[in-house]
Amino acid sequence: MAKRGPERDAGAALTRGAKRARRGPTAGVRGAKAGGDGPPVSELLPERLSLGSVRDAAAGCRACDLHTRGTQTVFGEGPSKADVMMVGEQPGDAEDVAGHPFVGPAGKLLDRALADAGIDRRRVYVTNVVKHFKWEPRGKRRIHARPNASEIAACRPWLETEIALIRPRVLVCLGATAAQALLGKAFKVSQQRGQFVPSPLAPRVTATVHPSSILRAPDDEQRHAEMQRFVADLARVARELSRKET
Ligand code: SF4
Repeated sequence: MAKRGPERDAGAALTRGAKRARRGPTAGVRGAKAGGDGPPVSELLPERLSLGSVRDAAAGCRACDLHTRGTQTVFGEGPSKADVMMVGEQPGDAEDVAGHPFVGPAGKLLDRALADAGIDRRRVYVTNVVKHFKWEPRGKRRIHARPNASEIAACRPWLETEIALIRPRVLVCLGATAAQALLGKAFKVSQQRGQFVPSPLAPRVTATVHPSSILRAPDDEQRHAEMQRFVADLARVARELSRKET
């Protein structure tokens, strides 16, 4: 049985997720002010939803104040029929400059871990809960700052629409921000990483650490150990993909 219909343009078959996205944020902070000077995302969603049309619409988003800090919107990327969607927190410094997600050091580490876990990178769509880089100045450097609940809520319709259009078989939250945004505040990556949890977002949903946390390990030994745990979490995803294919 085909896992999806052949028509990827969701204009004719708007999914529940995309309809929910049109109605606005659902992250529990409905109505919170995100400080933007533009219309909310729900008003920017194009009539005919496709990854291309939504990406184009997101390029001009000013729904929260992060658009004043980031260089550009960094929308998700990957195949429209991706089996796996990986959701991180936000684009980093390199992604902000390049305009593409997961192309910096953390993205390269993710690529290595996917290869080690046996997941074909071409089957993976990568995105973030927030599409603009939030940073604070430290000297000449731009240091990552965690997005707050209202910024995450303001940006959420973009992510919900991506999920609705891709309809991944497995959704993987990378890091606590993504996991708590999508799986609830009570979710603890440190305790529940690698487990599959019930969720309406996708048939199989799990969470693990963000690859940037591995880069921050204090020494090579711990970095190696954390990489092994990360690959083990992703190997569970690989097994799930292969089990579903049989
Ligand atoms: S972070 Fe999201 S909601 Fe905020 S301006 Fe960027 S794209 Fe729009």
